[in-house]
Amino acid sequence: MKRLQYERPLIQRVNTGILNKFGTRTEFTPFTHIDDVSVKDLLQQYGSPLFVISEKGIREKYHEAVRAFTNRYPKVQFAWSYKTNYINAVCNIFHQEGSWAEVVSGFEYNKALQNGVPGEKIIFNGPDKTDEDIRSAIANKSPLHIDHLDELYRITELAEEAGVKPEVAIRINMDTGIYPMWDRFGFNYENGQAWDAINKIILANKLELVGLHCHIGTFMLSPSAYAVAAGKMADLALGIRNKFKKNIKYLDMGGGFASRNTLKGSYLQGADTSPSFDQFAEAICTALLNAGFLQDELPLLILETGRALVDEAGYLLGSVISNKRLADGRRATILDFGVNVLFTAFWYDHKISPAQEFSHYTEDSVLYGPLCMNIDVVRENCTLPPLRKGDHVVVHTVGAYNMTQWMQFISLRPAVVLIDKDRNAHLIRNRETLNSIEVEEVMPSYLKDFKL
Ligand SMILES: *Cc1c(COP(=O)(O)O)cnc(C)c1O
Repeated sequence: MKRLQYERPLIQRVNTGILNKFGTRTEFTPFTHIDDVSVKDLLQQYGSPLFVISEKGIREKYHEAVRAFTNRYPKVQFAWSYKTNYINAVCNIFHQEGSWAEVVSGFEYNKALQNGVPGEKIIFNGPDKTDEDIRSAIANKSPLHIDHLDELYRITELAEEAGVKPEVAIRINMDTGIYPMWDRFGFNYENGQAWDAINKIILANKLELVGLHCHIGTFMLSPSAYAVAAGKMADLALGIRNKFKKNIKYLDMGGGFASRNTLKGSYLQGADTSPSFDQFAEAICTALLNAGFLQDELPLLILETGRALVDEAGYLLGSVISNKRLADGRRATILDFGVNVLFTAFWYDHKISPAQEFSHYTEDSVLYGPLCMNIDVVRENCTLPPLRKGDHVVVHTVGAYNMTQWMQFISLRPAVVLIDKDRNAHLIRNRETLNSIEVEEVMPSYLKDFKL
């Protein structure tokens, strides 16, 4: 018979601010497999820490989102937000599903082109488009979404130079009842800037205004804000039809739907509070269908949903380096990944599970990363069973904004593995190496040698 491991009994101090003794219970269920692939085997083969993405998770979420909108509205198109996760294998899963690309820089634009997305299906957003970016978008017939008047004038000049009338949209910002308002991007609805831009584009007649775009915020928990936004977008489109006898081809409602993560300081778990795709779709589609468009003039509805489609499909696997007691008696556990690779730890209380069996004892712990930096805190407070050096943990809901916002700081960034629908693991990004980091460095010859 296998000898059971001894664990010392523990007297627990009850900290104020913790929900109740059952409140975080689900956080310490052992999580040993991702899509039937063993966490231990993955770490053994690819090293620790390791990002893992579930292809099944992405495709199922995507189908759920598409279903929610196409059940309610006849013309729907998704465009994958590259900055949310632009590992090419991830982008291509979305493109295989029929998603266009949504990019916010020349770098992302070229990534989408290189992935094979046709130019007219790459939506070019963002406030910083260089002349080279604009020329390239015009040549490839990509819809340019104009952010400010300086950009409007520059696109007009470059279009004249090329002798074409490119298709453009303008970004609108507005009061949707959510504060602080996101009014730094695009043209404001309430103060008349939006109409100013519309008049300038249509009357100058050098650019073809085909769409209106908005992106009202991120991690939005309020479907009603989208209803307000859709109403205002429809109002502009109908105003353009009345004034200029011109139909707007598409309304792009941007992204921003919350994923099932838990924001820091929120009382309830994100899985219980984040609205579903159905709730967001109901708010947007009802507002558009009620707005007064003729049936054959309904604009195409574009969605640039990012985090809500990919967050839950991403996992970060890691290992325990050490445990210690803090001065106030709390347990501290040091992990081999920190805020350098888990950027979203600044915003979320991620769900973290041990990856092996354990006894029923639990204790409130602080989880630290490996950096020599006081800010390197993965969780300020987390109820976990005692973890030993070498034990493994799984961080949930990390698919959005970590594999793009991670920092190369102090240590190298980990590998990324994709688990396909048949449970095969594929390496989709190598672990960084000293050479891969230093490839861009240049040493002036007089600094090459030294004597110590
Ligand atoms: C970031 C961004 C998105 C995606 O936002 P999520 O919050 O990840 O859904 C969509 N559109 C634009 C213009 C963006 O900047």
